[in-house]
Amino acid sequence: MTDTEKVVSMYDKYIMNTYKRIPLCLEKAKGAKVWDIDGKEYLDFFPGWAVSGIGHCHPWVASAVAKQARKLMHVSNNYYSKLQATLAEEIIKYSFPGKVFFANSGAEANEAAVKLARLYGSRTGRYEIITMLKSFHGRTLAMIAATGQEKVKHGFEPLPEGFKHIPFNDLEAVKEAITDKTIGIMLEPVQCEGGINIASPEYMKSLRKICDEKDIVLIFDEVQTGMCRSGEMFAFKNYNVTPDVVTLAKALGGGLPIGACVAREKFQDVLAPGTHASTFGGSPIVCAGALAVFKAIRKEKLLKNTRRMSALLKKKLGGLKSKHHHLIKEVRVMGLIIGIELNIKGEDVYKECLKEGLLINCTQDTVLRIMPPLNVMKKQVDRAISTLDRVFSYFDTREGGFYEERYHLDRRT
Ligand SMILES: *Cc1c(COP(=O)(O)O)cnc(C)c1O
Repeated sequence: MTDTEKVVSMYDKYIMNTYKRIPLCLEKAKGAKVWDIDGKEYLDFFPGWAVSGIGHCHPWVASAVAKQARKLMHVSNNYYSKLQATLAEEIIKYSFPGKVFFANSGAEANEAAVKLARLYGSRTGRYEIITMLKSFHGRTLAMIAATGQEKVKHGFEPLPEGFKHIPFNDLEAVKEAITDKTIGIMLEPVQCEGGINIASPEYMKSLRKICDEKDIVLIFDEVQTGMCRSGEMFAFKNYNVTPDVVTLAKALGGGLPIGACVAREKFQDVLAPGTHASTFGGSPIVCAGALAVFKAIRKEKLLKNTRRMSALLKKKLGGLKSKHHHLIKEVRVMGLIIGIELNIKGEDVYKECLKEGLLINCTQDTVLRIMPPLNVMKKQVDRAISTLDRVFSYFDTREGGFYEERYHLDRRT
């Protein structure tokens, strides 16, 4: 029995079976590299679901956290902490004038955003939030109600009311969905879980206009797209469209659990004392880590690297698309958010990549999701591309009959 197999058997016994897990037990990591408990090395092009945006175990995050752990780890939110204030200042500096509420996860950041919109709307009897089909906003009861995918809701009814789903990137659908009860529109600028669907610039601009006209709160869920991932600090900057509320989480903490709900000046004081809270939200230790993330983005010029590596990947994936046109339907790229839509099941492909030491993800059955760390190096991009090329060749119809036949044949031997 390998060490991995031992851990898997402990999970079978003690951990609730809520995830379809890959049998890979990670023990340590650095930058874009991770090692499993049996010592095998992998190149991680989907680090922690985009959590480790500046790479695993960034030394500045690690030392800031270690130092803070000896000084002060947690402060309850009825006291003040300089680190929380400083982190909020950083976030505001890069987003828009306003204020921040700190939570511990993406779902919680979104809960805060929805509560803010509801509270604002309560003055005028409005409560309805419009969200998009194929969206993903988290797993709390309200966020599965907000998420526009049936699979996350099934069996959990009755769900909190007041959410309405419409097709993404469809302006007419927005106009039709708005009623005198509508208080919010919530969407991801790029639907990552939903298959790397990128909002069009006209759509985003029109949403802003409609929300201004009707005094509707425009909420962008940037839990996954935030913190440089899109080639801008926040994806909304690519559109030159400022939301009323933006939510952040994943990469914000450099590996630590954090969520943030950021509201523009007009909405910054809606959540007043007694309306919302979080015991752990914005604790010094987590804020110390997040501040190190901002420092790394600035000092290591990660925005620049993100754009350079994005252009390189776009070009190289374009090459793979022409070479393997039977397999690859479309490549969608914004910054280092990359979706490769396939004509075959993505699961088969990422499993082959895993065998070859490359970690990627698949969503919506046929879309490979690739999000290398922002400080990924050219040689790592080259290595990932050559791995993908090899794996695609393996599946390519030109190389030995229908991919299914070949795949299942190899599986048996
Ligand atoms: C991951 C994710 C969430 C949920 O975040 P959790 O930290 O898992 O609660 C919400 N929205 C988007 C866009 C996400 O990618």
